[in-house]
Amino acid sequence: MTVLENQRSVFRFAPSPNGRLHLGHALSALLNRDMAKTSGGRLLLRIEDIDLSRCTPEFETAIFDDLTWLGISWEEPVRRQSEHLDEYRQALQKLIDLGLAYPAFMSRGEVKAHVSEAEQRGQPWPRDPDGAPLYPPTDRERPTIDKERLLADGRRHAWRLNVAKATAELGRRLTWTETGHGPKGHIAARPEDWGDIVLWRSDAPSSYHLSVTVDDALQGVTHVVRGLDLFHATAVHRLLQELLGLPAPVYHHHRLILGADGRKLSKSAGDTALAALRAQGLTSADIRRLVGLA
Ligand code: GLU
Repeated sequence: MTVLENQRSVFRFAPSPNGRLHLGHALSALLNRDMAKTSGGRLLLRIEDIDLSRCTPEFETAIFDDLTWLGISWEEPVRRQSEHLDEYRQALQKLIDLGLAYPAFMSRGEVKAHVSEAEQRGQPWPRDPDGAPLYPPTDRERPTIDKERLLADGRRHAWRLNVAKATAELGRRLTWTETGHGPKGHIAARPEDWGDIVLWRSDAPSSYHLSVTVDDALQGVTHVVRGLDLFHATAVHRLLQELLGLPAPVYHHHRLILGADGRKLSKSAGDTALAALRAQGLTSADIRRLVGLA
């Protein structure tokens, strides 16, 4: 790679093939393409398919079709997360070796029961920025000998990050550079708001947070352009970058396209699916207008 190529900005659009792309994805993909073009940068496409129970090859093909219809082209080969589990496994191992990851044995049902018991006792349970209850401290505080016995017994478990220990060992507050449609400038990262995030799931390999952080670094991504729904998650990504010794991209979290009910679009929102709009005879220029791009 020449020095010149090295200096080019690298953007990526990273959809999950677990449904049809909708107008929100169109805004994200078009913004990535526009920003790459204006800065003379590169555009990568990453297929985030670690959750194999929800992702299908048909949805992946549909992503290629929808993007091509939008007039977007990307570099080949496309990175498919399901083909890189070893890289995420290595990152997890590094965090385990640093003493910052612990096996988490509680099922979703057990967490729910634990939280509602506490709430019934009148103890308010902290929630993460998405409204989900934080993982209880039970496994984090479990004596090593207990942990080893449960692991030796083959008990089903995830791996979680001990966020309090990780931030304490880091010893400094993290920030990120934000240029998007919400708060801008140097944003103070608050990974502790998420509690002990999952690094490796018991029902699917790796976690969104771990794989996205590893991939952005391995692919040399310099600019992450994605929806404001992932704004707060950036705090976790910054923490993982620091712990794993990875560079921090610039972040640009764009406005969300809301449905008629005022809520964020979901992949099941049939009438805003790009394929449905295409079938109604809309053109890619119409889509640009619909998502508010001139
Ligand atoms: N795969 C995520 C999604 O489809 C996007 C992740 C990201 O851009 O960081 O919502």
